Amino acid sequence: MPFYLLMKKRLVILGATGSIGRSALDVVSCNKEHIEVLGLTANTQTDALGDAVREFKPKYAAITNPDAFKTFTGAKDISGVEFMPPETGVEQLAAHPDADIVLNAIVGAAGLKASLAAVKAGKRLALANKESMVIGGDLINRAASESGAEVIPVDSEHSAIWQALIPGRKSEVRRILLTGSGGPFRQTPREDFDTITKAQALNHPTWNMGAKITIDSATMMNKALEVIEAVNLFRVTADKIEVVIHPQSIIHSLVEFVDNSIIAQLSHPDMRLPISYALFYPERRPAENGHFSLSEVGSLTFQKPDFDKFVLLHMAFEVVKTGGTAAAVFNAANEIAVAAFLQDVVKFSRIPDIVIHTLDRHTVISDPSLEQILEADRWARETAGKMLG
Ligand code: NDP
Repeated sequence: MPFYLLMKKRLVILGATGSIGRSALDVVSCNKEHIEVLGLTANTQTDALGDAVREFKPKYAAITNPDAFKTFTGAKDISGVEFMPPETGVEQLAAHPDADIVLNAIVGAAGLKASLAAVKAGKRLALANKESMVIGGDLINRAASESGAEVIPVDSEHSAIWQALIPGRKSEVRRILLTGSGGPFRQTPREDFDTITKAQALNHPTWNMGAKITIDSATMMNKALEVIEAVNLFRVTADKIEVVIHPQSIIHSLVEFVDNSIIAQLSHPDMRLPISYALFYPERRPAENGHFSLSEVGSLTFQKPDFDKFVLLHMAFEVVKTGGTAAAVFNAANEIAVAAFLQDVVKFSRIPDIVIHTLDRHTVISDPSLEQILEADRWARETAGKMLG
């Protein structure tokens, strides 16, 4: 057995009550002899957090939403767990001296400070929270270089790219082929976007995920964020990234090398695989479910993305070129627009308009500090909010 598996890894899961958080707890359940939970956090789902705390018995927990924390009475029934303060709990746990691995499964820009805290403390950061790499990639990379922290992607596409990069050298990479299912509206004419309902947009054809990323998949903003995430994570230029629509979500991404070889990673769409890979890398842990049969899958198809229909995907390449605070504004305006759509305040077709108009009004700051990123995020939320009408 490799040395690093002899000692149990201590894991902190930030956003333990979400889709990724729950899948991560599943992975822990299947690998109890190798990993234990040191800390769990939630925002509002206090009952779900209480259940997870009772089952996994972490030493620490945190509820970030102050109102939810105040009204949470379940802590009384749980012995042996220390609840951290709502305002600082996530960052304290991300940097906790006893933590080996921090899985950041918080949704949205709210995850940035925790990602930074984890890398500054030299942890292995298993990164699901793509938004933090999108808006603060330079800060995270710099902090990781200084501390020696590892940042391992959990996003299935980036995990696939990570795996496909291993057989070659970075200088030998010609292109990264970032796949995407195309979402539920791949074949819907743009003229029909005005009448798209919340239920239709939340019905992803291949993945079962949290609400925000599911809407992002429907607008293809998710792929847009993933383009920026890939640029920052793999430190490549955007012209090396090509988005390929692959409706079956079996090939999670590919890397083409200079000799024309293309290396791909395939599996059924199940986030437990990239989560497990990020937690145990370079080890692969056996998985009981999801055995893959090419003959059962039948055919795999590919097509070009429709940039006219999915304008946010097209914009991602401009945002990367612009750099600085552009990505923070692009992301924050989208978070506001998606939340408004989920609350039935705006139509689906208004989401890209809100993002584009907010970005148009922004004066970009290059090489921003954390404070400047957070201020751009705040400004974009306020500006986008004014457009909701
Ligand atoms: P969910 O909405 O299902 O879960 C989000 C988690 O974050 C919940 O635990 C939630 O707490 C917590 N949270 C929400 N707001 C805050 C906040 N302001 N501060 C602290 N915690 C907060 O999201 P997903 O699990 O779907 O996604 C999580 C991240 O992983 C996203 O960045 C997403 O893009 C990425 N990702 C997700 C994939 C998936 O399959 N779901 C695939 C690839 C990437 P509570 O529920 O208690 O309110």
